[in-house]
Amino acid sequence: MKLQTTIDAPDAGTPDWPMLIGGKWVPSLGGQWRDVVSPARGDQVLARVPSGTTADLDRAVEAATDALPAWRALHFRERGTILLRIADALEELSEEFAVLTAQDTGNALRTQARPESATLVALFRYFGGVAGEFKGTVLPAGDDQLQYTRLEPLGVVGAILPWNSPLMIAGMKIPAALAAGNTLVVKPAEDAPLTIVKLAQVINDHVPAGVFNLVTGRGSVVGQAMAEHPGIHKVSFTGSSEVGQGVAEAAGRRLAHASLELGGKSPNIVCPSAAEPDVIEATADGVLLAMRFTRQGQSCTAGSRLFLHADIHDEFLEVLARKVSALKVGDPLAEDTDMGAIINEKQHASVLAYVEDGTSQPGVRVVLDGSREVPEGLEGYYQGPTILAGVANDWRIAREEIFGPVLVVIPWEDEDEVVAMANDSHYGLAAFVWSRDLDQALGLAHRIESGWVQVNQGGGQVVGQSYGGYKASGIGREFSIEGAIEGFTQTKQINVKLGR
Ligand code: NAD
Repeated sequence: MKLQTTIDAPDAGTPDWPMLIGGKWVPSLGGQWRDVVSPARGDQVLARVPSGTTADLDRAVEAATDALPAWRALHFRERGTILLRIADALEELSEEFAVLTAQDTGNALRTQARPESATLVALFRYFGGVAGEFKGTVLPAGDDQLQYTRLEPLGVVGAILPWNSPLMIAGMKIPAALAAGNTLVVKPAEDAPLTIVKLAQVINDHVPAGVFNLVTGRGSVVGQAMAEHPGIHKVSFTGSSEVGQGVAEAAGRRLAHASLELGGKSPNIVCPSAAEPDVIEATADGVLLAMRFTRQGQSCTAGSRLFLHADIHDEFLEVLARKVSALKVGDPLAEDTDMGAIINEKQHASVLAYVEDGTSQPGVRVVLDGSREVPEGLEGYYQGPTILAGVANDWRIAREEIFGPVLVVIPWEDEDEVVAMANDSHYGLAAFVWSRDLDQALGLAHRIESGWVQVNQGGGQVVGQSYGGYKASGIGREFSIEGAIEGFTQTKQINVKLGR
């Protein structure tokens, strides 16, 4: 089959975007296809992708297994050079990737999709550059001994992706796994598979057949089968904690490696000094960013529990509300849009239900309610930014991951109290601390039970940093070079007697 990975005008007909198995673009053996619907328009089918089956997965694992010996045997420079070439090709196509991201995920082109596309390039470049760092050690055990370790690839890695920022999350797994000498089978989310199909096309232009395989399909079919498949040596999963638990169980039953990047309900703590007159605007901008409003709050690291010190509570909230209410919700493809669409009808309904639950609690104050904010002429799934104050840390909206643009505000008075509330969560992915007093900020940062704490900034992950969750937010680290070594290699010790 041929593949053309751009979305034409709706009247051009629905294109079929096949899967990549063993270097060939193929439909599912089962013959079924699934519509990919535009989150921004609701009624527009963008393309169809195959509804993969377990038989398709078997084919993909076989291709990845066959490709493994030659790929793992390459000099690291060759794998690194290939990753760098892929980075260059992705960079040339970065605007196409950004536009497709906006179409496929509903994330706004200017604020989200372009940065996601740029991050993908940066991640391929980073792992292309550090490919030689997957290296072992030598023990100084005397002149008649050579005792060394090799960091060998795990084998075939199965990567399962979510829909919220597919390219970025693919970028956290694919180049690292390939740099370490593994081969891959990747399954994108049902709701936003298209950028990953296009990514597969670029990767396939540069790697030998079978090194990278893509199987589209339902999580309960292909995803589940990946967790159980004896030919997959590691499952690298990013998604919800609920599904992640099932994946860990299935992988654990056969003692396969697994890493899990899961959900979050991250604390965002503002101390009084961060709301002094000369910094209050900057802190509010940072809190807005940390909440990931411009990704419709659909981010695992969203700082969605805002703890405001009582002394600055009302004043800070006023500044924040002014900034957040200025965000423009609209067509993801329009340059002036700040916030795009929620991924699908089900997720939209779930966000609305959380808002309804929150606004029905006694004592809640609705600072902003974006529920009725639907851009004119668009049939998609929209929700404007929503801020609910006067919230208690034990309410459902403060405990569960809403994965929508809903920020809950909780007052605090002393540090022990705010640390206890921040840590009173089954999640522990990210956290944000805002204070001009670095001793105070770091004191809080060290006490918070989260895998990633930011001080006085709210942006996203930077290439090379450590990233992963505490508690129900996950197990394992893959993003940094140390994480990639831990996540995509296994150590072999070799002891040699010399001079015989
Ligand atoms: P999800 O768990 O529903 O799906 C994630 C992936 O798992 C999809 O590809 C899906 O098809 C697949 N899947 C579904 N059922 C499966 C099963 N039984 N076995 C194996 N795979 C299965 O999550 P989602 O709705 O796509 O994404 C949103 C969630 O992902 C949120 O909870 C969010 O916090 C989390 N997330 C975490 C990170 C992180 O880095 N920690 C990043 C992005 C998203």
